[in-house]
Formats: sequence, C-alpha cells, structure tokens
Amino acid sequence: MNTLLLLAYLKNPPVIIVPVLRYSGMAIFPFVLLKSRDMVHDHTLMLHERIHLVQQLEMLILPFYILYGLHYLFNLILYRSHHRAYRAVIFEREAYSNEHRPDYLKHRRPWAFLRYAFTNNQV
Ligand SMILES: [Zn+2]
Repeated sequence: MNTLLLLAYLKNPPVIIVPVLRYSGMAIFPFVLLKSRDMVHDHTLMLHERIHLVQQLEMLILPFYILYGLHYLFNLILYRSHHRAYRAVIFEREAYSNEHRPDYLKHRRPWAFLRYAFTNNQV
C-alpha cells in the first residue's frame, strides 16, 4: 500500500458503530468498532484503537490476534483476574501507555510493543 494512503488511513480509520459492544471500542483491522457514534470524538480512545491497528498491520493481522489471545490466557492464569490479564497484554500496555500522546504514531518505532514485554507490569 502507498505510504501516504496508509498514513491517511491510520489517521482516520473507518468506524463501525456496534451498540452491543462490551467495551467502548475495539480495533479489528481495518475497522475501529465503537459502542456509540459520539465516541469517535474521544481522541484518547481513538488513538488507543489506532495504535492497535498499527500493531495488527505490522504483525500481518492474524498473528496479532493469536499472540494477543495467548498472552491474555497466560496472564489470566498468572493473575486470575480478567482486568489484570487484559491490561498486562503487551499490546494493551503500549496502547494505554501512549493513548494520551497525540503525536505518538508519528514517532513510534516499528514493533514498539516489544519493549513492554521486558519491563515490569504496572497493573
Ligand atoms: Zn486496547
């Protein structure tokens, strides 16, 4: 894909409204799923989901979901808490750590989530 097209896509990915969604938002490449239309104005939430889209792209989509699921299950056994297991997934750690930095994706290094695999969990 053309780099400029890719950057334009990542800045404003297509949104699907899913009222029955269990969470506020979810990234399933190439879409961002939101519980309600007004959440598209929540810049923190949108950046969080856009970080996940970049992670999914650089992992060629399917391996992202497999690694995400395995890491979650590993954490669930370790912590015995859905919330702690979810927050400790390396992809979530990168997204939550940077969702308040509007320029994060402009400066993000490829595979940036890996650095969260070797730091202490703060969950
Ligand atoms: Zn997330």
